[in-house]
Amino acid sequence: MTKPEQTPSARPDFPKMEEEILEFWDKHKIFERSIEERPENKLFVFYDGPPFATGLPHHGHLLQSALKDAVPRYWTMNGYRVDRVWGWDCHGIPIENMIEKDLGLNSRREILEYGIDKFNAACRSTVLMYDKEWRKYIRRFGRWVDMDHAYKTMDDAYIESVWWAFSELYKKGLVYKDFRVSLYCPRCSTPLSNSEVTMGHSYRDEEDPAITVKFKVIGQDKTYLLAWTTTPWTLPANTAIAINPDLAYLKIHIPEKDEYWIIAESRKSEILKDYIREDLSDDHPESKAIQVERRFEGKEMVGWKYEPLYESSYVARPTSHVGEMDRVDAGRLGRGTSDDRLEGYRVVDMPYVSAEDGTGLVHTAPAFGEDDFNASKIHKLPVLLTVDDEGKMMLETGPFAGLPIKQADPLVISDLEKRGLLVTNQRITHSVPECYRCKTLLIYKAQTAWFVSIDKLRPKMLDAAKKIHWVPESFKEGRFGNGLSSAPEWNISRTRYWGAPMPVWECESCTERKVIGSMAELKEAAGGRLPKDWDMHRPGIDLVEFKCECGGAMKRTTFTFDCWLESGSMPYASVHYPFENREKFEAHFPADFVGEAQDQTRGWFYNMHVMSSGLFGKPAAKNIVATGMILAADGKKMSKSLKNYTDPYEIMDKYGADALRMYLLSSNVMAAEAINFSDEECAQLQRSVLGILWNVRQFYLTYAEGKRIEIQKPHSMQVLDRWIFSRMQGLAKNVTEKMNGYDLAGALRPVRPFVDDLSTWWLRRSRERMKQTLDADDSYDALRTLREVLLELAKLLAPFTPFFAERLYQDLEGGKMSVHLDRWPKIDEGTIDERLESDMEWVRNVVTAGLEARVAAKLPVRQALASISVGFKASAEQIRLSQRTDLLALIRDELNVERVLLTVSDPNQPQDWMIELDTVLTPELKKKGFYREMTRNIMQLRKQSGLTPGDTVKLKIASDDAELTAWIKDLQDDLAKESKAESIEVV
Ligand SMILES: [Zn+2]
Ligand SMILES: [Zn+2]
Repeated sequence: MTKPEQTPSARPDFPKMEEEILEFWDKHKIFERSIEERPENKLFVFYDGPPFATGLPHHGHLLQSALKDAVPRYWTMNGYRVDRVWGWDCHGIPIENMIEKDLGLNSRREILEYGIDKFNAACRSTVLMYDKEWRKYIRRFGRWVDMDHAYKTMDDAYIESVWWAFSELYKKGLVYKDFRVSLYCPRCSTPLSNSEVTMGHSYRDEEDPAITVKFKVIGQDKTYLLAWTTTPWTLPANTAIAINPDLAYLKIHIPEKDEYWIIAESRKSEILKDYIREDLSDDHPESKAIQVERRFEGKEMVGWKYEPLYESSYVARPTSHVGEMDRVDAGRLGRGTSDDRLEGYRVVDMPYVSAEDGTGLVHTAPAFGEDDFNASKIHKLPVLLTVDDEGKMMLETGPFAGLPIKQADPLVISDLEKRGLLVTNQRITHSVPECYRCKTLLIYKAQTAWFVSIDKLRPKMLDAAKKIHWVPESFKEGRFGNGLSSAPEWNISRTRYWGAPMPVWECESCTERKVIGSMAELKEAAGGRLPKDWDMHRPGIDLVEFKCECGGAMKRTTFTFDCWLESGSMPYASVHYPFENREKFEAHFPADFVGEAQDQTRGWFYNMHVMSSGLFGKPAAKNIVATGMILAADGKKMSKSLKNYTDPYEIMDKYGADALRMYLLSSNVMAAEAINFSDEECAQLQRSVLGILWNVRQFYLTYAEGKRIEIQKPHSMQVLDRWIFSRMQGLAKNVTEKMNGYDLAGALRPVRPFVDDLSTWWLRRSRERMKQTLDADDSYDALRTLREVLLELAKLLAPFTPFFAERLYQDLEGGKMSVHLDRWPKIDEGTIDERLESDMEWVRNVVTAGLEARVAAKLPVRQALASISVGFKASAEQIRLSQRTDLLALIRDELNVERVLLTVSDPNQPQDWMIELDTVLTPELKKKGFYREMTRNIMQLRKQSGLTPGDTVKLKIASDDAELTAWIKDLQDDLAKESKAESIEVV
């Protein structure tokens, strides 16, 4: 008895099959064995970039997982040992922000009031809240990775390695503390790095005021400098006007006010247009009366002094910054006009000033802009910090004191208007950075922070980057290379709580500083005593104090690290190097492969590269694959609230994980392009590749049932078999080459055409061979060929569709454990026969043309025809192919013609060859057509009755046509044989 699911029509239940395979893998520890059974000295190294477990995995995560699973499986099958350990990103603003919401805390001050210890405990208990769901998704997706021994960035061992890395960079002079401008979130009260903003795609369009303001020049009668700004709240912090020394400027007379304005020449018409539209009607004679008084170069203005917009009693002072203003650098700070080394309220030359917008004169508030701050360094300008840690105007700003900056804007504007200092007052919509977690608008703000000196490290980073192979290749010079060339200094300190604490202790009384690189060092510095219930996190660590040589107390700086420095330390910190696993780390660095989404060129790829270049002078990975974005089917971002996508788990339940994996891995998203995820395309791919292969497998199982089919050399010499072997070796070669180059979509591209060839040509033309009696050589050849092709295909598909490959392999090789423990196919170049492949293509084209001719002549294929002739343009081809009787037989059988004639036709015909079908029907041909129709009907009846190929039948044929009855009698031996009939009775 043939089992019902093994009849060729059985419909596959892929999700159910996958669940069974998962159980099989678990039960037999196939993943563990795939590592342990590979030699320890033949490593392929893969690093897993840690995700946050603060949300459920989405399509993007599964895309990365498909990549991170397929590549290691491939190298495992090539004999390498590929350790795969999961990691969790635990620290940083994302989790802090979640906890703040849970606890109803709205500012850093409220966290302090709540208690850092309780706050951090809440973070710790929540950080892995989706751990179980992640395990469920990752397991179901068929990704092999050790999640039981996942590293966590919050572990003390991990943090200790981060300390070590930081202290090494400090020794090398690659990190420094500075007072300078960084992006700052007023709600989170912390600086952020540029990469956090780019990573979070954190820009939005915002409407702001756009005003032009007058600054009265001292010593020149009725003369004003005009400057433009979109941040009126920064005007109280103004200490200079920057100009370009080489630009042309004008002094123009405004008769209406009888005063003189200084503006860039090229901005004149724009400024007057705006001004006139506001103050005068278009045809007002005044607008025509405006005259240019003088034209001069910018350099002439340098050193001019002007009256401050606001009282100089707005004294400059450092931000309270939880009281940790850098004492060493504090001297550089402006103390208003009282500091005799600093002089404000004057015109300075800065080459960056352009005349593209504004007035060509730039309002300079050194505390709130990168360029402004640079100008203050070059020209010794006071830095007026007029905004506190929570983004509110400071007391010294008088009428604006205590207001959040954006609320101060209208008050500043109306104040200037009252004082006659406002020239234009408009609105502008522009793109501005926001906090990637709390969505508060970020500001640039001068503050004390620690930096990695990208400027110093840049040559090393560029050098190490040369050794990286990128997929797509263009990233090497493009996205990543360009990013390295222009990367700013990296702000690595956060004024936050749930993060690895910075290991810096400073003396309260002198400039002494200690950077600690290990727990042992800290213990020694602290005289062997550390607090009870030790936890390296705040606030415990903040209690560790020790004595300075000067007698003062050394206290820890309260900074925590940017969590990107932590994840960028993953290569060594995940194995607690250099405190443990020295040899292991050295053998595992750099990685052979990492893969993440393309925005990680500014995130994890980048930060890991900075750390590796700084510590080891090497890249962190030799091969980096960057993937594109997955959008919803409507082209928008996938969004839970819009419900514009199906949860990936549902997709796996419906179509199977293999279908999802294959869909993702073969799409353009692997070439770092964006794709619109389509459930239908995923289902379609499942049907057109896996579904078809499943049917081919069913054919094999049905016809090989009960037979011993062995793979042996030499291969079958039958022309179809030689052809499919050639195609298969070509496929294996292609997949191997592409996988060696980490081009996964390229590796999968030729799979579908191969599956088509196998099922629509090889199997179609070999079905009859397989059905023959068991001992027929041709039947055995067909079966052993199919067995070998399917087995090789199982191996080639194993990295991509591990479940289907396993099922297929087990069906063919029941005795062996798992395809994933087997070896990758060796390429047999000698089997590849390109001539045969192109000849076969010709055969198929002739068949297609012949079938079209039949349709045109309304002659179904079952009606035998006398001949088809193929007329060649070139006689050489005609002669060569005339000798290929094996190929011609394929045409003959497929087209159901008696003869295939090759001729030389008109050498001027446009095509290389053309066909002609002989459509004359002789009585003999009609008889053959009748026979075909007869057998087809009988086979259909057999099928309808649920008979298996082995069952025999008794036939009874009724006919009232004398000619037909005669034909049946003539043909009855053949009919009986073909339809497995014991007897035929004609009535
Ligand atoms: Zn924020
Ligand atoms: Zn000291």
